[in-house]
Amino acid sequence: MPERSLETEAQFLKGVGPRNAPGLAKLGLRTVGDVLYHLPRRYEDRRHIPPISSLKPGQFATIKGTVDEIETRPTRGGMVILRAAVSDHSGTVSLIWFNQPWVRRQLEKYKGEIIAYGMVKEGHWANEINGPEFEILGEDDDPEDFARIVPVYPLTEGVTQKTVRKAARAAVEGYIRFAPEPLPVAIRRKHGLMGIQEALKQIHDPSTDEQRVEARKRLVFEEFFYLQLALAMRRKETEQELGIAFPIGDLVAGVTVLRGYGVTDRNTETPKHRNTAKSAVIAKPFHDSHLFESEQKNLREGEPLWEQIHRMLPFDLTGAQKRVIEEIFSDMERPHPMNRLVQGDVGSGKTAVAAASMLAAVRSGYQAALMAPTEILAEQHYANLHRLFDPLGMEVVLLVGKQGVRERRKATEKTAAGEAKIAIGTHAIIQEGVKFDRLGFVVIDEQHRFGVLQRAALREKGLGNPDVLVMTATPIPRTLTMTLYGDLELSVIDEMPPGRKPIKTHWKQPFERLSVYDAVRKLIEQGRQAYFVCPMVSESEKMLTQAAEELHYRLSTNVYRDLRVGLLHGQMKPKDKEETMERFRAHELDILVSTTVIEVGVDVPNAVTMVIEDAGRFGLSQLHQLRGRVGRGGTQSYCVLISDAKTEDARSRMDIMVGTTDGFKIAEEDLRLRGPGELAGTKQSGNLDFKIADLVQDGRMLEVARQAAMDLVERDPGLDLEEHVLLKDRVSERRSQMAVVTIS
Ligand code: ADP
Ligand code: MG
Repeated sequence: MPERSLETEAQFLKGVGPRNAPGLAKLGLRTVGDVLYHLPRRYEDRRHIPPISSLKPGQFATIKGTVDEIETRPTRGGMVILRAAVSDHSGTVSLIWFNQPWVRRQLEKYKGEIIAYGMVKEGHWANEINGPEFEILGEDDDPEDFARIVPVYPLTEGVTQKTVRKAARAAVEGYIRFAPEPLPVAIRRKHGLMGIQEALKQIHDPSTDEQRVEARKRLVFEEFFYLQLALAMRRKETEQELGIAFPIGDLVAGVTVLRGYGVTDRNTETPKHRNTAKSAVIAKPFHDSHLFESEQKNLREGEPLWEQIHRMLPFDLTGAQKRVIEEIFSDMERPHPMNRLVQGDVGSGKTAVAAASMLAAVRSGYQAALMAPTEILAEQHYANLHRLFDPLGMEVVLLVGKQGVRERRKATEKTAAGEAKIAIGTHAIIQEGVKFDRLGFVVIDEQHRFGVLQRAALREKGLGNPDVLVMTATPIPRTLTMTLYGDLELSVIDEMPPGRKPIKTHWKQPFERLSVYDAVRKLIEQGRQAYFVCPMVSESEKMLTQAAEELHYRLSTNVYRDLRVGLLHGQMKPKDKEETMERFRAHELDILVSTTVIEVGVDVPNAVTMVIEDAGRFGLSQLHQLRGRVGRGGTQSYCVLISDAKTEDARSRMDIMVGTTDGFKIAEEDLRLRGPGELAGTKQSGNLDFKIADLVQDGRMLEVARQAAMDLVERDPGLDLEEHVLLKDRVSERRSQMAVVTIS
């Protein structure tokens, strides 16, 4: 027998042995430590199991009784149904399994009392529980299991509750005293957290409900704490990197900095580009350089930055936009790379915020890049930003995949030479091999769509160490932001531009379609435009295309054959997509039938109504994104959700959409209903792998752990103090599993 520690192999646990070890290994439990940290999924209070006669349909319940009768029956569909009648002194309940012959063998082999757990449904003769979890209580059981709070562990095929329970109990009894305490005592005291040994004991074998809750609290904190420490450390590291200190103070005061650097570039001599600033290959500090004569009539020399922003934009900024721009400016001014996430609901005006920051970067003598997730969006940003920057004499170029070779080359040349002040493109294009003369500022729009983007990647691509601004229109619940983007600074645009009328949302049944079509027609007759979003038939792009084509065919040849109906889907050639979008924008089309390619960012203010087919198939956040395509002008806009919403869940989702236009509320609901993995394309993120913590219910603890982590890193940035040795180990483990979703 080897010396005992948490590293001891699980097979040495009492009652496990070589026979049960492979089963545990299937669950990933190889050492005693693994077993101790394999936490129960729920508990069964077997001290008082209610009599079977008191079961209520619609509720989860635990029952205990003896198996009276077992019957197997094939169905027409080729399934085999197993039904076991279980009774206690008060009544009988049917346990039902589909296609699980081994259950029958077990029930017959071990005759004894059975404990089962599941959702109670009303059946023909008696209440039923379909596919219950169950356990047969036989002679080899610890009699205590009959009358205590019993842990129920996550299992996998071929591993029984009994095996895991036995292993856990042996681990608790024989090894818990070897579990080291990683949390410094000061932190435990401050937050009232149980010690690790007591917590592990109580989580596997709770003395009372209160103790179990305390134990869980401690373990949840710990889990969040490691992640938050990892994030805080990463953030600290970026903070210490050297970046650009943009001379915002000077710009705001109206001191000229624009042509403030370096040598003249040959290319700027061509008359056509006279208006562009001189640029240089070698960056020099701003203040020791000469100022060139202004050639730019439009760029008023030394115009104070805020005045220029004001002159550039066709509207007054909202208070929230101003505040966020100021937050960005103060980051830009610091000599470290900015890492900021701007969240703003659809239509909150993120583009203006990006434009103002890019203006500051360009005025400081740098280039800016904007990366969009799709070509359509890149083109749209290009159109908008070109319109804003051109009058200031700052050239904006577009870089997209299917551009003509010559056009593209011209754009990349201008970017490399520094003539183009702002380059806009898709993420892929900008990352791949585009050279900049002096890139200082990068905006990433709709970041979650990229999934993976790292500051390191920017650097590898030779893009230097620019300030990075990530904009997302997906309102992400705060708990998720803190886990996914916990190393970014956060700004929220929490105010809509004035004059917006909240979108009116209606939920209609499929049989009410005709009246919906009529209503849309009326709006079109008033000179408005409409989107029709085709059903989300599957994940496959091909099937989606087909669905869109069908809907387009039906509408254009039948319902609206006298109107101009266009079609947009993901499989179209970029050029055709662009052309269709352009025609819709120019009001050469009344109706645009589309797949979810229009989900993000498309901006046609005259399109005031959207009909979403089979809306129940979309996630809430996605519906919200889609709906954000309307309501972008001053006119009342409408969104019609067509759905038969057969399930409770579908109905409640429709109700939420009808009831609120607040993206954050919707995202919270989405998180609650679907869990974090489905939101914001975060499935692959290691940041969300929690063993015990739950982002939905443990939001407050997350805040606490985050604050504690930031305080600690402030005091001991490298976790180098003696009392943090263990902590440091845990954190580096966590860092190695962490997602690359964040920019760092
Ligand atoms: P999003 O945050 O969804 O990217 P946009 O930047 O596309 O939003 O802005 C949505 C619309 O609101 C655009 O038509 C834009 O011109 C307009 N807009 C933005 N800010 C303001 C403002 N402060 N006042 C009036 N309109 C604004
Ligand atoms: Mg946008």
